Amino acid sequence: NREIQLIKRPESTPNHDHLKILNTDTPQPEEEEVLLKTLYVSVDPYMRGRMNDVKSYVEPFKLHEPISGGVVAQVSDSKSSDFEKGDIVTGNLQWKEYVVSKANSLRKVDPTLGPVTTSLGVLGMPGLTAYFGLTDIGQPKQGETLVVSGAAGAVGSAVVQIGKIYGCRVVGIAGTEEKTRYLSEELDVDVTINYKQQNVKNALEEACPQGVDIYFDNVGGDIADTVYPLLNKFARIVQCGAISSYNIPNDQGPRLQMHLIKSSALIKGFTIGDYQDRFKEGFDHLSTWLKEGKLTYKETFQEGFENIPDAFFGLFTGENLGKQLVKVANP
Ligand code: NDP
Repeated sequence: NREIQLIKRPESTPNHDHLKILNTDTPQPEEEEVLLKTLYVSVDPYMRGRMNDVKSYVEPFKLHEPISGGVVAQVSDSKSSDFEKGDIVTGNLQWKEYVVSKANSLRKVDPTLGPVTTSLGVLGMPGLTAYFGLTDIGQPKQGETLVVSGAAGAVGSAVVQIGKIYGCRVVGIAGTEEKTRYLSEELDVDVTINYKQQNVKNALEEACPQGVDIYFDNVGGDIADTVYPLLNKFARIVQCGAISSYNIPNDQGPRLQMHLIKSSALIKGFTIGDYQDRFKEGFDHLSTWLKEGKLTYKETFQEGFENIPDAFFGLFTGENLGKQLVKVANP
């Protein structure tokens, strides 16, 4: 039974010096617990923040303990009346091939809504983040211009589509041709910008002749700096992430005060946990749109437990189109 531990805190970009695969015993469940076989592991950018020993909205990972995060697993032994062998569940679980969990911290996955992996993507935390960030903070309206950075990722690819559902003109920024093609050809994004190939300032000015009403920011940094001067009066900035700075120690972030004043814009940060009481609403919208074909998704898979670290590192070099997952085992 293998597990992956954080053995050293990264000061900049994480690599194999920081994560280690170790062999451990297979644990046994006690009353109200289940033994789970890990099927799919989600790697997410926020995990980088948990590798730092600083106070934040989630506890730092402890050194020499397994990393934990979103997982889809199958019950292989149950000491709980709520679950039986074979059930597919999701929860926040340690990166182990077999893991024991309290039954009351797991949720059964409904396989009729889509492949079980969607519970880690479009019907899970990233999808809910897109839904609440855009609808609640972004307040999208017909005909408005919505700019999305990190547009081809798990959150971004849902944001651009929800923006289209609300009738926005959508501008998507991403880092490869494959991603910009996916955005324009499959997700109907009006204008795409490849920030690694194009002059982002010129491309954005051309893409947003009416200015920017909503900026859904997944990346921060230079890209955000380029969007701010284009903000319209009463624009909304949904500060979802800032991945461009996660590996830069003491990053001061972009300068935006003057732009907020000039545009009377609103900026609001959030974490998806803020919307805990409304998850059912978000989930119902996302699953309905998925069923109706208004919302689609892509997943990028790595195979094998030992490749979880590489899949995580790849988030910072943009290896993933849509949601990055690791397939650990067959059910
Ligand atoms: P993604 O699937 O978007 O994966 C990360 C992507 O970020 C990469 O594929 C890459 O795409 C892009 N990226 C990496 N480094 C940089 C960089 N230096 N500059 C610009 N883009 C970069 O991840 P998620 O959809 O899971 O998360 C997106 C963002 O949302 C993250 O910042 C994350 O922390 C945040 N988030 C916030 C939540 C909240 O509650 N507030 C909840 C969930 C996510 P490319 O090829 O385009 O560069």
